[in-house]
Amino acid sequence: IASGTVPTFKLNDGRDMPGFGLGTSLGLKKDNNRDLKKNEIENAVKWAIDAGYKHIDTAFVYDTEDKVGSAINKKVAEGVVKREDLFVTTKLWNDAHARDAVVPTLRKSLENLNLDYVDLYLIHWPIAQYRNGTFYDVDYLETWEGMIEAKKLGLAKSIGVSNFNQQMLERLISKSSVKPAVLQVEINLNVQQPELREYCRQQNIVVTAYTPFGSIFPNKARSDAPPPRVDDPTLVQIANKYNKTVPQIVLRYLVELNVIPIPKTVTKSRVEQNIDIFDFELTREEKDLFRGYDKNYRTIDYKAAIDSPYYPFEKN
Ligand code: NDP
Repeated sequence: IASGTVPTFKLNDGRDMPGFGLGTSLGLKKDNNRDLKKNEIENAVKWAIDAGYKHIDTAFVYDTEDKVGSAINKKVAEGVVKREDLFVTTKLWNDAHARDAVVPTLRKSLENLNLDYVDLYLIHWPIAQYRNGTFYDVDYLETWEGMIEAKKLGLAKSIGVSNFNQQMLERLISKSSVKPAVLQVEINLNVQQPELREYCRQQNIVVTAYTPFGSIFPNKARSDAPPPRVDDPTLVQIANKYNKTVPQIVLRYLVELNVIPIPKTVTKSRVEQNIDIFDFELTREEKDLFRGYDKNYRTIDYKAAIDSPYYPFEKN
């Protein structure tokens, strides 16, 4: 596996972040198979570490922190990897945005993970919202003060935000003493975010690409989702040329956009396949083709929060 050549990103706080990671979200719907699925996450994280992944993405609200942590602790105990060589991200959920709630909530995440610190703590959404769906009034600037405290305490080595738009980032940067190190947003073929990426480049904020496959898999695509799908003949042809799969060339394109993809899979062969993208490069023509799929179409639009004053996306 060519994972030895995964690039490292230098964060604006001086720390390093591995340029490829494993996602661990099972979706937010609770179902009867939850326990089984959670065990799959533990296996996936173990396979990932065996395959050379150094970066794992989780969140309090995913309810997978315990499995992510037990996989990591087992691999560290086995001597496969050292804790300090791993990069673990978790996120603060919307129901804990009060400044004084941030550190205690991170401590709960650390307890779930059974770790002393996370490498990156993110505000999951700019939106303050209770679990029952009701919005409450806390400005994310206040939440950010709690994040700064978490960093000062060493509980989070770096801090950042997720699902913030450019205006929100500008406001955060102009009104606070610490700049976010990372922005995590949806980036895939259908929503490539060229302006937001350029803004982050100028501000020296590293961008993580969540839901990197977007709508390429028919079982996940809504009926209104733009093309392409994974069986698109042109994409299959390009993939064949490199002896790769369509998911691999899609991830490779994201790498060439200088963002950090965090694909989720609980399938061992896919865990290994997804990181095996650091031994080839797409041509300019191929990248032009990929760019053409950008329709500013979101797979995750979180319309349920559209009435929040802090809803970050287009409202139509
Ligand atoms: P992804 O784009 O990573 O797609 C995951 C799906 O793709 C799964 O169904 C998986 O199947 C399938 N898959 C993965 N690799 C392959 C492959 N090589 N071939 C075929 N199918 C494949 O979606 P996510 O929404 O999970 O996004 C990734 C991560 O980003 C999340 O897990 C989470 O960590 C983060 N995220 C963050 C958000 C935020 O608000 N900050 C929002 C959404 C996601 P299977 O598992 O069955 O193999």
